[in-house]
Amino acid sequence: MTDQSNLFMDLAMPGVRGLRPYQPGKPMAELEREYGVSDIIKLASNENPLGPSPKALLAAQVRLAAVNRYPDGNGYSLKEALAGRHNVDSVCITLGSGSNEVLDLVARVFLGPGLEAVCSAHAFAIYALVTQAVGARAAVAPANSPDHDMPYGHDLQAMLTLINERTRVVFVANPNNPTGTWLGESALEAFLEKVPERVVVVLDEAYFEYARDVDCPDATRWMARFPNLIVTRTFSKAYGLAGFRIGYGLSHPDVADLLNRVRAPFNTSEVAQAAAVAALQDENHINETVALNRTEIRRLCKGFARLRLSYLPSAGNFVAVSVGPRVEEVNEALLRRGIIVRPIAAYGLPGFLRVTVGLPRENDRLLDAFGDLSMDGLTDRG
Ligand SMILES: *Cc1c(COP(=O)(O)O)cnc(C)c1O
Repeated sequence: MTDQSNLFMDLAMPGVRGLRPYQPGKPMAELEREYGVSDIIKLASNENPLGPSPKALLAAQVRLAAVNRYPDGNGYSLKEALAGRHNVDSVCITLGSGSNEVLDLVARVFLGPGLEAVCSAHAFAIYALVTQAVGARAAVAPANSPDHDMPYGHDLQAMLTLINERTRVVFVANPNNPTGTWLGESALEAFLEKVPERVVVVLDEAYFEYARDVDCPDATRWMARFPNLIVTRTFSKAYGLAGFRIGYGLSHPDVADLLNRVRAPFNTSEVAQAAAVAALQDENHINETVALNRTEIRRLCKGFARLRLSYLPSAGNFVAVSVGPRVEEVNEALLRRGIIVRPIAAYGLPGFLRVTVGLPRENDRLLDAFGDLSMDGLTDRG
């Protein structure tokens, strides 16, 4: 339905009117319906290809019989587990339906008409979305240049420059999605020292678990030093529980108190909470996940290099690879082969596809497809 024919557009809040819906990765069932292909592989939403921890699944199953009851909205057991993990008090924790909801809560608490949030170009799309939804403005800082050693990554200096008296929130993704780029400890620490105390800094660490081999700090270490810092984490990515919708924020207790005032009373299910507690304790599964990703991301990148496709450095479980101006054609050809990846033109990266690191055989299929397409002269090697 176009805006003109939408009877209710005039009634919607101005911030909502300007929103464009978030475009998720194509679901497998949709591709099957639309293209009639089977044996589909989805490398489009940075999910864990190994699946959830079996222990998390078991814990969830045990809780299923009690779904006639409302969950413990306060998430006592999960908060206790997280408090122990991060060495903070449980009053510092806000549980969300994915960390996405925590980002939304931050916007609802701290932003509104006349106010601004700062984020980087090529950053996770949700920051601008939650900002605009509450009528605030997203000030987008230019990112690093393509020839920087962290191409298209956050330029913290440029972000600082955009902070003014209307700024209430700064969103930083580390590592960032969809670029995969990351920020080192000293740069980030210097940044936190420079941001005024009345401006909340959200450090989104959705891919933290994957970033073991690089200088990508655990921002929770700065919690006590910077009361304006909110660190978000999720069970959707390395922990393999995307479908359960559970994530959290760590912050000063006063900030957590505000976030918890606006959240819906039963925003996370007890099934998801139980799965999260078990997932947190299953270190084997996380280690296997990270080890597989380490091997396979290297193999993917080598494969891209062999095909003379350039790609961005990534500390996550995905790679942004440049296939040139015929990106739509390449994407379409991949879909016809039953391979779902993510075009990221909407993130200011035309010509790039973001591919999630899959299982070895899935990555083989992707590389084979890229190889065939290159031979067909589909991709631009210029
Ligand atoms: C996936 C992702 C999230 C949030 O995912 P949830 O499923 O809502 O926890 C947050 N930030 C980034 C950068 C992501 O890629």
